[in-house]
Amino acid sequence: MSCSGNCSSCQENCSSKQPESLLEPTGDFNNIKHVVAVVSGKGGVGKSMVTSLLAVELARQGKKVGILDADITGPSIPKSFGVTARATQNNLGIFPATTQSGIKIISVNMMLPQADMPIIWRGPVIAGAVKQFWQEVVWEDLDYLLVDCPPGTGDVPLTVFQIMPVDGAVVVTSPQDLVSLIVKKALNMADMMNVPVLGLVENMSYVKCPDCGKEFPVFGNAGENIAEETGTKLLARMPIDISLSQMVDNGCIEKVDGDYLKATAAEIIEKLP
Ligand code: ADP
Repeated sequence: MSCSGNCSSCQENCSSKQPESLLEPTGDFNNIKHVVAVVSGKGGVGKSMVTSLLAVELARQGKKVGILDADITGPSIPKSFGVTARATQNNLGIFPATTQSGIKIISVNMMLPQADMPIIWRGPVIAGAVKQFWQEVVWEDLDYLLVDCPPGTGDVPLTVFQIMPVDGAVVVTSPQDLVSLIVKKALNMADMMNVPVLGLVENMSYVKCPDCGKEFPVFGNAGENIAEETGTKLLARMPIDISLSQMVDNGCIEKVDGDYLKATAAEIIEKLP
């Protein structure tokens, strides 16, 4: 039987056995202080946007940051940074792209002849690509490697949690009841994999009236409720902000001047120094 390393929910009587570690080493040339997974229960809640913006904030606070785009079938990290260069490789490994503010990124989109080419791969092959990004990319010195996981609790998040020494997970949600139900699965998965949840980022929380500044909670307050119910810290509430999606679409996320995730980045730095 495959072992997740979490004995609390397992019926097997193997208390004398040590759970097998499935951790894989990264390349010898890499010195990665902390791995932070960014996860969500479902797609479209803004997980990739939050990953990019969090990397930008950590870099602004003087940290060396990398992003491993593990959303293999829906990669969007290179676009938000305006990276169009193909990844290069030599006998040392695969070289990530470096953005204007020095963030290193790797994504399957940097390996395709055309960015709109679909990835039609079986689960194990996709998980193999993520493993290769961890083992073969020349990240060198990083304070934080953010891993943009695909939504849900499938093969890839499982691979990330098993093979990488994940120090914490940031869970992204939108404040709808339906999404909240599903986000609990993501929170529980992190718990079952013994990965500490750093907190919840509630995206698309409200719209701010440009005239009077009043905030309208378009979808409700489910994010606050879920944070309370699950004892998870609500790290940030981000509005629906058209300038954010424009920055992402134009590949200039590094020019965003809002400080929506400034406190979140500071908290990560404090928790994972
Ligand atoms: P996910 O990774 O969860 O699938 P994305 O980060 O790709 O979601 O976001 C989906 C779309 O919504 C993108 O076009 C993104 O630019 C946009 N978006 C995400 N968050 C916001 C926001 N707070 N305000 C405006 N647009 C947003």
